[in-house]
Amino acid sequence: MTTRTTIIISEACDSDSTRPAFVHDLAAALSRRPDVQVVMMPHLYDLDADGPGMRRLRCVQGDMIVLAWLYPRAAYWILNAGGITGRMGDVPSVSNEQVASAVVEHSDSSTDRTIWCLDLREHGEVGPILARVERIVGVSIGRPTAPTDREDRPSTAAGEHRVEETTRPRWYPVIDYGRCDNCLECLNFCLFGVFGIDASGRIMAEQPDACRDGCPACARVCPARAIMFPAHNTPAIAGDPSAALGDFNTEFVQLFNTPNSANLAAAERGRALSEKAEQEKPLKKDALDKLVDDLDEMEL
Ligand code: SF4
Ligand code: SF4
Repeated sequence: MTTRTTIIISEACDSDSTRPAFVHDLAAALSRRPDVQVVMMPHLYDLDADGPGMRRLRCVQGDMIVLAWLYPRAAYWILNAGGITGRMGDVPSVSNEQVASAVVEHSDSSTDRTIWCLDLREHGEVGPILARVERIVGVSIGRPTAPTDREDRPSTAAGEHRVEETTRPRWYPVIDYGRCDNCLECLNFCLFGVFGIDASGRIMAEQPDACRDGCPACARVCPARAIMFPAHNTPAIAGDPSAALGDFNTEFVQLFNTPNSANLAAAERGRALSEKAEQEKPLKKDALDKLVDDLDEMEL
């Protein structure tokens, strides 16, 4: 029996008022397909590692298409950090023949399913996304689909399903293990205890929420350009694949792993340390006040 492809739609996290309607239209159109199951959830990057969203994602069997407001590379490795693995599907934009030749970019031999990630920011309309999804589904279930008969299909009983999870904006490093060579530079550089080593000796974001809000410093010092901050304004830091090794134009020299970027990273880390110290001052003062109150109560 063929497993139905699951389509995950990640909601937007910003204040763009057009995005909720866009997501609604997209989900409604995709839910009419009998060969897919649509699951909506909050912004992928903000999901808690053990929350309902990630738990639902870990339950998905078979191929998965993830539609998110993120670079596909960032979305794929966010899933990977949550234990959701598969081959990385390269998303076609032209023809079915290209789909077949571009299925696997990142090979994961532990699984035979494919995860396709599409960046919803690339399209202002639902139509082109539907067309791309249809080409992918045509490959993943073994038969091409005809975009022209989309409107004739009956609604499916499966419909769409929404995962409820209360989220907050998060900020943490996402590691691209397709690039990382486990040099541990990031572990030594970060002074906030974000990175750690897993049981197999591999670097991981052990305490992601210890990362300082807005700090992208370790992305700049990673020699493999393997660290992403998906919410950063600079595309190359947010997961744009153009941040390739060997690209030494002026922008990249400033961004990554050069004397310039090392200075910038050290300054960003220093700023993060100062901010942390500032935030902790009132706490220390409160603790001192409490001690004085306690001593008063003891009537020494
Ligand atoms: S610095 Fe980059 S390549 Fe080195 S362990 Fe960290 S993520 Fe991997
Ligand atoms: S961005 Fe800064 S605080 Fe966050 S993991 Fe990297 S070095 Fe640590």
